[in-house]
Amino acid sequence: MSTKAPEIPSPEQRLNLLKNRVKPTLALAVGLGIAGGFVLIAQALIVAGLVHRVMVNGAGYREVLPQLLRLPPLMLVRAALSWASERVAFAASALIRQEVRNDLFQRLLDAGPLRLKGDRAGEVATVIVDGVEALEGYYSRYLPHLAVMAMVPLSILAAVVPADWISAGIMLFTAPFIPFFTILIGRGAERLNQRQWQSLARLGGYFLDRVNGLATLRMFNASRREAGMIARISDDYRLATMSVLYVAFLSALVLEFFATVSVALMAVIIGFRLLKGGMAFQDGFTVLLLAPEFYLPLRLMGNYYHARMEAIGAAERIFSMLDTPVAPRPLAPCPLPAITPLRICFEDVSFRYTPDSAPAIDGVTLSLTSGERVALVGPSGAGKSTLAALLLCFALPEQGRVMVNGVDLAQCDPDQWRRLVAWVPQRPHIFHGTMRDNIRLGRRDAADPDILRAAGLARCEEFIARLPQGLDTVIGEQGAGLSGGQARRIALARVFLKDSPLIITDEPTAGLDARSEAMVRESLNELARGRAVLSIAHRLATLEDADRVVVMNEGRIVEQGGYEELKGAGGLFARMAAAGEGP
Ligand code: ADP
Repeated sequence: MSTKAPEIPSPEQRLNLLKNRVKPTLALAVGLGIAGGFVLIAQALIVAGLVHRVMVNGAGYREVLPQLLRLPPLMLVRAALSWASERVAFAASALIRQEVRNDLFQRLLDAGPLRLKGDRAGEVATVIVDGVEALEGYYSRYLPHLAVMAMVPLSILAAVVPADWISAGIMLFTAPFIPFFTILIGRGAERLNQRQWQSLARLGGYFLDRVNGLATLRMFNASRREAGMIARISDDYRLATMSVLYVAFLSALVLEFFATVSVALMAVIIGFRLLKGGMAFQDGFTVLLLAPEFYLPLRLMGNYYHARMEAIGAAERIFSMLDTPVAPRPLAPCPLPAITPLRICFEDVSFRYTPDSAPAIDGVTLSLTSGERVALVGPSGAGKSTLAALLLCFALPEQGRVMVNGVDLAQCDPDQWRRLVAWVPQRPHIFHGTMRDNIRLGRRDAADPDILRAAGLARCEEFIARLPQGLDTVIGEQGAGLSGGQARRIALARVFLKDSPLIITDEPTAGLDARSEAMVRESLNELARGRAVLSIAHRLATLEDADRVVVMNEGRIVEQGGYEELKGAGGLFARMAAAGEGP
């Protein structure tokens, strides 16, 4: 017996599911839109009656005044209903967009740096900003209008039948042509929209990447060539956009044509029948007033169909980002045990990135306790960063366990655990903002005395004092205006402020001049006191400060011990040291 694979919902089905989050608001928008339709019918009936009494019956101004006075309030009510319907629909769409953005952002955070390594920042930004924005028309216009389109023409038809069933018949016959042509022309538009969207994402990614590397491009005299490449990608995007617009205009033209011809046909038939006396003036006029309004929602649907296409084009990328796999979280996380002193044990841990790749970590058993500094060394690709990522809970071991004071880390809440871990990377990210905000990243609620104390411990006090506005000085993006050594010391100040019992470092002294290196090392030694430190090491200086050196190769631990001991042992470590590779 064959089992059917579960059907994967299409982007449109998933967009529709999202609608459930704002169902009441959307229903209100639809209700207001339909109420506007009823007011419109009432207005047409009054106007037709009025004109009939004045033109045919020869009624005077005074006789029709009560009827005339009913019109202005109706016009106001109709305008108010249409305004309110649009506002409410827009609010629903804004809420959905905000939620989708939050979901995307949360997903990025949950996926963590391991899964996002391959993603291009510009493309991610384009999806989160422009992609989500492209959903606007789907929820604020297309969906509410779909319901209005079903109800308003039907109500108009119901009003026309008693006046003139022949006209009602013409309406009924011609109406289906409009949605039919909308769908026929729109079919090709779906593919075109997706192409347009892909070009935009590509352009976004490419552009951001080149702007970031502008200095390098200028140095290699390659900026003109890259400008030419950007011009080519922009041109692709222009062509994709023009083809989408071409279809959109073509569809608008066809729909307009059908609606106009249908109204004209009805006007001619009504004209002849009035001439022959086969129809009352009031009925004919009512039908003529209502006929354009009958086709209007159908025609608008053609325009909004374009909003639907745009949203579906963007939805594919949004949902693929929302489906990025994340490390599973425990359903009922265990509370973390008392953390001082800390004892971490990797017990026969293995991990691979994809089921068919070689293990990045293969049966690692390792311990680390408070007051101990362990340095991880090994050739590139040995698994050092992956081991640190497992300790940071960015992924869970495929086999084995990482135990923290007797509790399996896989059972703990990763956010709670990460609050106890500090990470000092090779190139810390300094954000555009004040010095205070940059250091306060370590602890959001820290007051100035605490910030200054942490800055002092990280040897930042002196250069902060020299800044024109001290802690209030604004630092440029990615640490512009700071030296490499100053940026590392700010990163250390964050860690001092966080006061975590476990610190993971990735060669924070790399690429510094001798004086800056000495300062950072001094602070690191201070920081390490009483804490557990795991450092990914590439340089000799880092290893001299370590209590234990762990040598990794192809995901396994091949040697461990004191620095001098390993150097004399004649193994991989000694060979690497002799060859000047790594340590
Ligand atoms: P190291 O930090 O020692 O240089 P890594 O831990 O980065 O080594 O890598 C260990 C292995 O895992 C390498 O073979 C590398 O190619 C692979 N790897 C690392 N990151 C990823 C990733 N995001 N996706 C797939 N494979 C990866």
